[in-house]
Amino acid sequence: MSEAKPLLQIKGLKMHFPIYKGAFVRREVARVKAVDGLTFDVLEGETLGLVGESGCGKSTTGRAILQLYTPTEGEVIFRGEDLCKLDKATLHSRRKDLQMIFQDPYASLNPRMTVGDIIGEPLKVHKMATGNALLSRVQELMEIVGLDPRFVRRYPHEFSGGQRQRIGIARALTCNPKFIVCDEPISALDVSIQAQIMNLLEDLQREFGLTYLFIAHDLAAVRHISDRIAVMYLGNMVELATGEAMYDRPTHPYTRALISAVPIPDPEIEATRERIVLEGDVPSPLNPPSGCVFHTRCPFAWDRCKKECPQLKESEPGHFVACHLLDEPGREGALPPVDGNTTKQAVSASVDEE
Ligand code: SF4
Repeated sequence: MSEAKPLLQIKGLKMHFPIYKGAFVRREVARVKAVDGLTFDVLEGETLGLVGESGCGKSTTGRAILQLYTPTEGEVIFRGEDLCKLDKATLHSRRKDLQMIFQDPYASLNPRMTVGDIIGEPLKVHKMATGNALLSRVQELMEIVGLDPRFVRRYPHEFSGGQRQRIGIARALTCNPKFIVCDEPISALDVSIQAQIMNLLEDLQREFGLTYLFIAHDLAAVRHISDRIAVMYLGNMVELATGEAMYDRPTHPYTRALISAVPIPDPEIEATRERIVLEGDVPSPLNPPSGCVFHTRCPFAWDRCKKECPQLKESEPGHFVACHLLDEPGREGALPPVDGNTTKQAVSASVDEE
């Protein structure tokens, strides 16, 4: 995977939502900094997991990459073109290659459309098929995702939650995309169904050479499916590494806290391992803290953290961390404070449970 070429290059991506006031003369009074300057690559054929607490900007990042939101600043390079600079017609034609699977299979399907119309809609929009060709492509896709093609004229309410998510996956596959943003695709499903959908996504990736950005707050789920993992906090990327490095050697204090919170079903290990408990809530993206945005909750913060925003730096090959502790190996909190074996056991135990 490390030799794979970037399929997408995201450079300095910002997504700020203005807040206006005034009944007659509207003026901008503030900005919600949902995504505040992300730079990373998505490699061809990989699954990049994107993790963080609710409201940290994960879903906004996925939508801004797909140009469902117009980014405030930055570039999204796909096959040599900056998607942010394309005119409407060109962007429309590129949308075939870049698709999304939504979190809520209940809300993301039009209840008045049949399954056939839902899955076939992208083919009509992009004028790729009509009539019998369209119907047979829809039925082929239904089979690929594990749905009975005889149900092509049924409506979404006639299917279970897991089946509806399969409809959403079939719709995303309709135009043979290269890249799919999976926006928490299993979090609204019963636990018993989650593993089936994860396995389906992995099978499809192998069969069709897909590249995923897999958004989740469930660390165990991300570990299971991801080649690399990126951790976000308050619109910023704080750590990016391979799944193995992330769980064996979590470096950013926020990542360490997230991983230390993964429960271990062995009471002996659970009782002895170190747990990092974060104080307070995530600050508002309307008024993010100065310097390192994590300094208000970081147990290791010092003066520099309040003044200076840390940049992502390579701590070992392919492992990037945004933390001043990297420059100060002797300081309290500098690595390695978390026992790698304990962490590994925590994660593998929780994956095995699925
Ligand atoms: Fe904590 Fe400072 Fe590192 Fe931010 S830069 S994570 S506040 S130690």
